[in-house]
Amino acid sequence: MRSIPLLNVDATDVFDEIAAAKNQPRRSLMQAARVEILAAYQGYEDMAPEVGELDKAPLTDQQKDAMRHAYSVETEPMTTLRRKLLNRISVARCPFCGISETSTLDHYLPKERHPEFSIFPKNLVPSCAVCNTRKRDRILDAGTNTRMFLHPCYDPIPDTAFLIVGVRMEENALILSYRLTRPAGMTLQTFQHLRSHFNELNLADRYRRMGLEHLGGQYFALRRAYGPGEDANRVAEKLVEGAENFEEVYGLNFWLAKLYRALAENNDFCEGGFEMVRVQNAAY
Ligand SMILES: [Zn+2]
Repeated sequence: MRSIPLLNVDATDVFDEIAAAKNQPRRSLMQAARVEILAAYQGYEDMAPEVGELDKAPLTDQQKDAMRHAYSVETEPMTTLRRKLLNRISVARCPFCGISETSTLDHYLPKERHPEFSIFPKNLVPSCAVCNTRKRDRILDAGTNTRMFLHPCYDPIPDTAFLIVGVRMEENALILSYRLTRPAGMTLQTFQHLRSHFNELNLADRYRRMGLEHLGGQYFALRRAYGPGEDANRVAEKLVEGAENFEEVYGLNFWLAKLYRALAENNDFCEGGFEMVRVQNAAY
C-alpha cells in the first residue's frame, strides 16, 4: 500500500490518438462518443478518489465495446501509453501490496462496468498480477457501500502507524502475523477502507510468507552481525538500520520496515533465534 504519482499525459490526446489508430467502424464509434467520454473524465477527476459511485456514461452497447476494444486490442498509441505507465521506476513495485513487481495495468474502475474509463490514464494503475487477479472487477463493498480498495494515485496513505507484525518463536519456527490497528486520530472510515484493502488482497498472509522468504536471504547478514562474540545488540542495530532505510523510501507502514522493527525488539530472535530463518537448501 503506497502512493504513486500520476503519469503526466493529456488524457484527451490519448483518447484522440487511440481512436484515430483504430479501424472502422470502431474509430467512428469512439469519435461519436467523444463528448460523453471527456465529460466522464472530468467527472472522475472532480470526484477522485471517491469514484465508486460515478454514474455510467451514456454510451451505446457498440460504443462500450469499442472502448473496451481500444484497451484490449492494442494500437501503437495504446502500447506507448502502457509502456509509459509501467516503465517508471517509481511504480516498479506494486502499489497495492508493496511486494511484487508490476506487470499489468489494473482498471481501478473495471472496464466491464465503466468502459468509458478503459483507456483513461488516471484509471490505469500499475499492478502485480496477484493484486490484479484478487481485485477482479470489484469496486464497492455491498454491505457498507464504500470503496474496497485504495486508489494508489489519489488516496493518501496515512503516515501514522497502522500496520503491526507479531513475532513469536516456537520450537524451530518463527511465526509472523500481520494485522492492522487503528491509531489515535484516524477516522473509522479511513480505517475501514485500509482494512478492506488489506483483507481483500490477502496481505496478512502474503506479507507473512514473503517476510519469511526475505529473512532467509538475510540470514548471513544477521549471522555476521551476531559474530563470534554473539552480540545480540549488534543484530538489533542492524535490523533497526534496515528498518530506517525502508522507511525512508517506502514509509512507516512498509511491511518489511515493520518486520525489521518487530524483530529488533525481539530479544530471543536477536540472541541467536535468527538461526530459524536459515534456508535449508534441500527443502527450499
Ligand atoms: Zn500487488
